[in-house]
Amino acid sequence: LKAVMKVDTKPGIKIMDTDKPKPGPRDVLVRVKATAYCGSDLHLYKWDGQAVKWNSPVPRILGHEFSGDVVEVGKNVTMVKVGDQVAGETHIPCEQCYMCRTGRMHICENMKIFGVHVPEGSFAEYAVIPETIAYKLPPETPYDVGALYEPCGVAMHAVQRAAPNPGDTAVILGCGPIGIYVQQIMKALGSDVVATDIKKFRIEHARRVGAAREVIDASAGNVVEKIKATVGQRGADIVFEAAGAGDTIRQSLDIVAKAGKVVLFGASPDNPTLDTTTYIVYKEIDVLGLTGRYMYSTWDRVQRLVTRGLVDLKSVVTHQLPLEEAEDGFQLLLKGEASKVILNP
Ligand SMILES: [Zn+2]
Ligand SMILES: [Zn+2]
Repeated sequence: LKAVMKVDTKPGIKIMDTDKPKPGPRDVLVRVKATAYCGSDLHLYKWDGQAVKWNSPVPRILGHEFSGDVVEVGKNVTMVKVGDQVAGETHIPCEQCYMCRTGRMHICENMKIFGVHVPEGSFAEYAVIPETIAYKLPPETPYDVGALYEPCGVAMHAVQRAAPNPGDTAVILGCGPIGIYVQQIMKALGSDVVATDIKKFRIEHARRVGAAREVIDASAGNVVEKIKATVGQRGADIVFEAAGAGDTIRQSLDIVAKAGKVVLFGASPDNPTLDTTTYIVYKEIDVLGLTGRYMYSTWDRVQRLVTRGLVDLKSVVTHQLPLEEAEDGFQLLLKGEASKVILNP
């Protein structure tokens, strides 16, 4: 079994042969056909502060966004069968804690993230996953599309948390893959959508596929004025902060309309200082946080929009590589020269 591995706690990867995993009684073995890079894979590649915080085990296989065919099932598996095409949910919940038993498995108290907290990952020819995180895809879903349900699920979750009203104006700060999916979903709901980014590559990519009426270059300054000139001086009804920077978190509070909603889901390393009295209390805004995806309502909603052509999952893909060229994918992403990169093992 060929796999992209992390063998020690230093930057870099190794492509090597390892034993084909055996499914346990409630596990399924998947022949991985497409698997996409995510921000967390870059943290693990660099082995930066975030990777250290996750306490990710090594040696390990990288990757967690994937789809493929079920080729073997454990003896107690009931929900999927050999031949099913599945995508991998990343959250491995304990199924026993308060959050798991009250409808929010995706923020389980004892959460393990596939590809991060366990040695298994999807940048390999085969992956073993618990059947609880195998999502059965509709027949004839292209493998590359199947691998992108997971990141689009985060975008769907952000929109579900925001619970938009008809005619809401929406600003999306950040045009990475998830920011682009939020733009497409909000447009499908009839919102007026405006987006920003600071990276030239992402701005141009969003202008091509992002579904925003306007993509503003935030690196040129005066972002707040530019956004208000576009959506109206009252500000935006909903602001999605998908960049995870101190600057964009502050901007989100500034550009949201009074009584509007700010949805935060970018992980910011810099913990910004905020004027909460001026921007949250007096403006009476709702600040909503989120991580990951509802299991599995986000998946079903993504499926419906994808099936109806309202969201184009592959639109974020800028590069596709064979497993052997995984290093090139990391380099492209580290240089900011790619949006979503897919490996086809
Ligand atoms: Zn991911
Ligand atoms: Zn739990």
